[in-house]
Amino acid sequence: MRIVLLGAPGSGKGTQGKQLVDQYHTPQISTGDLLRAAVAADTPLGRMAKAAMDAGQLVSDEIVLGMIRERLAEPDAQRGFILDGFPRNLSQAETLDGVLHDLGQPVDLALLIDVDFDVLMQRLTGRRTCESCGAVYNVYSNPPKFDDRCDLCGGNLRRRADDNEETIGNRLRVYEAQTTPVIEYYRRQRRLRTVQGVGGISDILQAIRRILDPLSRGEAVPGAEPATGDAKPAVAKRAGSRAPAKRAGGGAPAAAKKKSAAEKAEKKKVIPKKKAAAKKPAAKKKAVKKKVAQKTAKKKVMPKKKAAVKKKVAAKKVARKKTTAKKKTALGKIAAKGRSAPGKGVRRRIPRRPK
Ligand SMILES: [Zn+2]
Repeated sequence: MRIVLLGAPGSGKGTQGKQLVDQYHTPQISTGDLLRAAVAADTPLGRMAKAAMDAGQLVSDEIVLGMIRERLAEPDAQRGFILDGFPRNLSQAETLDGVLHDLGQPVDLALLIDVDFDVLMQRLTGRRTCESCGAVYNVYSNPPKFDDRCDLCGGNLRRRADDNEETIGNRLRVYEAQTTPVIEYYRRQRRLRTVQGVGGISDILQAIRRILDPLSRGEAVPGAEPATGDAKPAVAKRAGSRAPAKRAGGGAPAAAKKKSAAEKAEKKKVIPKKKAAAKKPAAKKKAVKKKVAQKTAKKKVMPKKKAAVKKKVAAKKVARKKTTAKKKTALGKIAAKGRSAPGKGVRRRIPRRPK
């Protein structure tokens, strides 16, 4: 049973993930946990991830996929996995499929725990935590008996600093804008199943089990979802096990309208500025670099320069590792030479050409 778990912050995805681990004895592979573990264990990928984070950059998909690949090679993952926290955007979903296909461990299903935007806002902004004992309340769904007082110990209830509406709203909209294409991607391939993430934890688990139980027995899963806007599916629908055909057509049309309006506004606003700006240029640059490299390689001018650049990078890495004491040793000199190498390479190359 190989599952990708999808759900917004506040959807209860983490809680359900844990239940599923107990239920199916399948490991939950959270990319957040993988990252932390790799950094703590100081693995090669962990060091690369740490370097990126220390530089204030996002950890690249390559690194994360490398970690996933390593994790999937472990014995317990041979039975299957519940992947959590990845993919978060379309490009990651596509790359992941490639990697898993190569490993012979393709994703069976993407399971979406769907919760209305307004409900997510309530869940996330209503959170209160006891300063003394850590008990968690929600002023909307699980309020304390007395305002701002813990039922258990009488301690003060606080809201986290980043639990304000604006921050949370932005976080949710960014999440949604990025993951909607992922959801559509799996839906198009008829690998998406949706459960409504409302009601009690055990109710939601039941709905999930109606989908995953057959899968865990190696049976076909009922109810492939039609692509958005398609006709109703031929397979009989099981109560509560699937979302309505149209995603926004749930129980709250008003909320849905609000949601899509907010989405549109947000796509214009937040995405291009924040995430896209942070991520895409780097990826594009890489792509451009690659193309340039390929072109020049064809002319047979490039190999030397490439090698020089590689040396330079390698030397730099080594140089960075060595700490202050050894800064000016031979390695440092190599690094310094490496830095001037590309220039030399060019000069050397020019007289050769006429031959
Ligand atoms: Zn308390």
